[in-house]
Amino acid sequence: MMNGFIKLAVDDTFLFSCHPGIECFNRCCADLNQFLTPYDILRLKNGLKLSSGEFLKRYTTHHIGPASGLPVVTLKMLEHKDLSCPFVSKTGCTVYVDRPGSCRIYPLARIVQRKPNQRTCEEFHIVIREPHCLGFNESKKWTVREWKQSQAVSQYDEMNDLLMDIISSKNRSGRSRLTHSENELFYLACYDLDGFRDLVLEKRLSKTQAHPVKKEVIETLEVDDVALLRFGMEWIKGRLFGKA
Ligand code: SF4
Ligand code: SF4
Repeated sequence: MMNGFIKLAVDDTFLFSCHPGIECFNRCCADLNQFLTPYDILRLKNGLKLSSGEFLKRYTTHHIGPASGLPVVTLKMLEHKDLSCPFVSKTGCTVYVDRPGSCRIYPLARIVQRKPNQRTCEEFHIVIREPHCLGFNESKKWTVREWKQSQAVSQYDEMNDLLMDIISSKNRSGRSRLTHSENELFYLACYDLDGFRDLVLEKRLSKTQAHPVKKEVIETLEVDDVALLRFGMEWIKGRLFGKA
């Protein structure tokens, strides 16, 4: 048990099914404190064919996370529509192919805990059993592994681990708060990817690094958002927390 939640290993099972015919359909897509990870934003802004700047302006708010001390981005719920998610419709999620990782993996949540004073992590999953969700009354049985495969979450896990890595470096560095300009740089590298690309392409990065970014790397970053996000997260980790 963990704070009232049952820990599940990858081959543990649970009963669940979610489909348009279920009485609670869409009930879970409102009044959410929905954090968006850097990779969630990449997928959503590309799926909606928006720049990261436009996506962030239209659909999100951001603040400094009290636990991490780093900028976090949340999806703005629609105040004039019972706090529903901006992407929910009568027929379901309008961004389904690019829906955020936490929506994909629901009713599970993935927990990654770094062991104290070690670089290794423990990974497990918990079931989020909410009273309004009738999916647990269905008879379809899943292992955690099967559910995650069916929801295509592996790249989300991989990219979210890079964010975890930044948070761990920050914790190891002993820094509690960043300066305003460091927070802005973090926001740019992790969330405002198209803005960060402009920074890379203008080669302004080279002025802040001992080693300028190589031409062939720049060419990849120009066209490949996933490579750019990986680069951005590695870069900001080194820039803010060194080798911590
Ligand atoms: S993004 Fe889609 S699945 Fe997630 S809360 Fe919004 S409508 Fe629901
Ligand atoms: S409340 Fe549960 S079963 Fe109902 S739509 Fe949401 S996830 Fe599916």
